[in-house]
Amino acid sequence: MAIQRTFSIIKPDATRRNLTGKINAKFEEAGLRVVAQKRIHLSKAQAGEFYKVHAERPFYDELCEFMASAPIVAQVLEGEDAIAKNREVMGATNPADADAGTIRAEFAESVGENSVHGSDAPETAAEEIAYFFSGLELVG
Ligand code: ADP
Repeated sequence: MAIQRTFSIIKPDATRRNLTGKINAKFEEAGLRVVAQKRIHLSKAQAGEFYKVHAERPFYDELCEFMASAPIVAQVLEGEDAIAKNREVMGATNPADADAGTIRAEFAESVGENSVHGSDAPETAAEEIAYFFSGLELVG
């Protein structure tokens, strides 16, 4: 498997509880390298644009409110098979279904406030990275 990059967000429930370092340790232990990172506070409109694929879902408004409720940490993670590996380290969307040792099993508060986002495919990873970072900010 080739070296890949994926996009990650440490969500407001986690930044509020000061968990950035603990979550980054999980990535690093799994062989993922943080090659870009910034802490930002999204507006509700920016959160809505990022999650527009979910616009028709019943939880969309709640999700956008939540993502704009406190700072996030936007990141690019690099490593072997990074997209799948990150999804593995994150755990299932609903923390009740997440495997032991995953970020969501350890830290998520609910299916909505679930501590991390990670891209699900190469196309979305490329799009999401470009939405948050310029090429100059990616330092491998
Ligand atoms: P994932 O983040 O695991 O890829 P999805 O793409 O299905 O999951 O959903 C995007 C985000 O929307 C989730 O991470 C979560 O924050 C929120 N979400 C998903 N399902 C629900 C739900 N049933 N109720 C509230 N929020 C939800």
